[in-house]
Amino acid sequence: MWTALHGFAALALVMVTSARFVRRRMRYESWHLLHLYAYAGIALAVPHELWLGSDFGGRAAKAFWWPMYAAAALSTVVFRLGLPVWRTLRHRLTVDRVVEEAPELVSVYLRGRRLDRLPARAGQYFVWRFLDGHGALHGKPFSLSGPPSRNRLRITVKVIGAGTLRIAALRPGTRVLIEGPYGRMTKDTYSGGPVTMFACGVGVTPLLALLWDLPYGQGKATLVYRTRHPHDVAFLPELEWLARDRGVRLVPLVGPRASAGSWLPVGYGDYDDLAALRSLAPDLADHDVYVCGPDPWTDAVLRAARRVGVPGPRLHRERFAW
Ligand SMILES: Cc1cc2nc3c(=O)[nH]c(=O)nc-3n(C[C@H](O)[C@H](O)[C@H](O)COP(=O)(O)OP(=O)(O)OC[C@H]3O[C@@H](n4cnc5c(N)ncnc54)[C@H](O)[C@@H]3O)c2cc1C
Repeated sequence: MWTALHGFAALALVMVTSARFVRRRMRYESWHLLHLYAYAGIALAVPHELWLGSDFGGRAAKAFWWPMYAAAALSTVVFRLGLPVWRTLRHRLTVDRVVEEAPELVSVYLRGRRLDRLPARAGQYFVWRFLDGHGALHGKPFSLSGPPSRNRLRITVKVIGAGTLRIAALRPGTRVLIEGPYGRMTKDTYSGGPVTMFACGVGVTPLLALLWDLPYGQGKATLVYRTRHPHDVAFLPELEWLARDRGVRLVPLVGPRASAGSWLPVGYGDYDDLAALRSLAPDLADHDVYVCGPDPWTDAVLRAARRVGVPGPRLHRERFAW
């Protein structure tokens, strides 16, 4: 009986910490660690269910549930453990260099072997573990900030806490463990027409990778790039190259927030959220719209985009939250 009770308690803990308002207050590591309790909960509850419980008494029920549980256990071992270890050993990623892109924003360039065999795509993210000593096994999610190439990956990191401070100080040659790729905001979501991307701060990372990757026509892409200060605008040479070569229209929106709940900076004329969107892209309803930034900002953009008629399947967002 006590195993079932402990199993139930572990699963209840996972449920409580999954609630958005609880999750928002937690560090990624704490949230991740508590979620591992789900494994403990299942490991404690399932034997009780199968051996002592009355629901799985019959032969037919046992013949069905045992293989189901075995398949779930096998998938967990293969996909959560085996695959990350296999990919890490196969691709041998190491830090090549760390480059400052803007104040408190660094890019980490990674080298590896046969990265063309890694099924990573622009717009996706990995959970990264940098083997640089203390705290090395704390995984952190970061999106690719450029399309993956044969031997190189790049991530770009905003320094906001202890973990990202460590990343900014990484030395060339540091070994890297990877888990992933994860994320659905890839080329597969693109329906083929004009495209408008809305980035706020470090949210530009997956969108920049997609700007390189999506097969939009000449002059058919716009990047609206929101930062607080002019010096926070990162990747200028790359963006200028994309503007010159692929006709990407760049719309910088610089300055403090116009008002609570708005995605515009102060001084954006007399425009409200909706009017600004209409003037930036009058035919936005026909575009694929990609958005990445802090949650409230992203929500404000998505709200305005829905109101100008962009259909749900053409709205794509990446959340830097758990
Ligand atoms: C799918 C995904 C992709 C991501 N991609 C990127 C990326 O490309 N570049 C990048 O810089 N970051 C990205 N992030 C966010 C990044 O993982 C966190 O910023 C990082 O883990 C913070 O680690 P830390 O140890 O420095 O900060 P912590 O010590 O964990 O936190 C420091 C402070 O920042 C707050 N904080 C932490 N994370 C966030 C967050 N995501 N949003 C708002 N506040 C936060 C904490 O509440 C705390 O107050 C991504 C997150 C997810 C879920």
